Amino acid sequence: MGNDPRNGGANPNVPQPIRPDGAGATDFGPRDVMRDMENPDLLVPPVTDAGTVPNLKFSFSDTHMQLNHGGWSRQITVRELPIATTLAGVNMRLTPGGVRELHWHQQAEWAFMILGRARITAVDQDGRNFIADVGEGDLWYFPPGIPHSIQGLEEGCEFLLVFDDGSFSDLNTLSISDWFAHTPKEVLAANFGVPESALVGIPKEQRYIFQAELPGPLETQKVPDPYGTVPKSFTHRLMAQTPIVTPGGTVRIADSTNFPISLRIAAALVEIKPGGMRELHWHPNNDEWQYYLTGTGRMTVFAANGTARTFDYRAGDVGYVPFAFGHYIQNTGDRSLWFLEMFKSDRFADVSLNQWMALTPKQLVQDNLHASPALMNSLRKEKWPVVKYPAT
Ligand code: MN
Ligand code: MN
Repeated sequence: MGNDPRNGGANPNVPQPIRPDGAGATDFGPRDVMRDMENPDLLVPPVTDAGTVPNLKFSFSDTHMQLNHGGWSRQITVRELPIATTLAGVNMRLTPGGVRELHWHQQAEWAFMILGRARITAVDQDGRNFIADVGEGDLWYFPPGIPHSIQGLEEGCEFLLVFDDGSFSDLNTLSISDWFAHTPKEVLAANFGVPESALVGIPKEQRYIFQAELPGPLETQKVPDPYGTVPKSFTHRLMAQTPIVTPGGTVRIADSTNFPISLRIAAALVEIKPGGMRELHWHPNNDEWQYYLTGTGRMTVFAANGTARTFDYRAGDVGYVPFAFGHYIQNTGDRSLWFLEMFKSDRFADVSLNQWMALTPKQLVQDNLHASPALMNSLRKEKWPVVKYPAT
């Protein structure tokens, strides 16, 4: 392509919006070559892509960082990715001792610890408390309205928070310091039975994230618990779970069947090995919100009426699939692609195209698709969420 006069002397190492059959033309610019290289399936879409499909990708690298002493946060909500109305995500980092302050909100909070460790605390409406240390691959869940906190331990930590409302903002939660700052001192004095002089040091505004001393080991942080602890654990060890293993990868599902407190958010942690693919499927319960952890992949979403579009994803991206739209995800790299599938639902549920066809009268499927005997023989009653077949 480098010597093609239509290239106008373009660098052959720079990708151009040109198909092997010659369709397209060089991009004279202005252009962002790095981004074009990250989005090969937008620059030169598969020929099966067609029609108008809303944007289904947003990178945390394109979001505003909230920097505080003690850590940072950034979020992808309906303001960044307008189609993502069901769930919102926050990527947060806390230093050793860094605290996400005592707060609560109207939304359920689900979390995945990416790296490091943290201590979480909560107290429910019956005075039952929950204090636990969480590490890499652990989940936590706080029901809507339940007050809680997060603090980084020795190694600090980084995690993903997911909320069951796309319009959520982590900067607009109900915070203890904010409430104190906006309550008259005499009211606080009356509420706690102290003189106003006992309230001189309280913060004048919401603290959000702040630096504190490292807390001691859990055993040293005992609090009175006359009402015991919460009946359903707020944490779940996802990586300790035995995965579903298929030739293409692994899947770990966490929903209210094995993480009973998590009534509003269901999740699957998926690994697609090199050359593997999350099979053609859809979800019969709700939209899918994705967070890509490592590796690179591409997803094509089929949106009915002849429309389909392919998006490229990498670590730090959020992907989205509207309710019931068909999709698949391929690993495009040479190492495992890991990502989270999230749903505003009490259960994880998916419908496999392959299994559907296998469990439908053969003649009907054959007639519908003019299916060859080879295709009919490939159908599987068993569901393989991630597939990889030997090259034929
Ligand atoms: Mn929270
Ligand atoms: Mn899916």
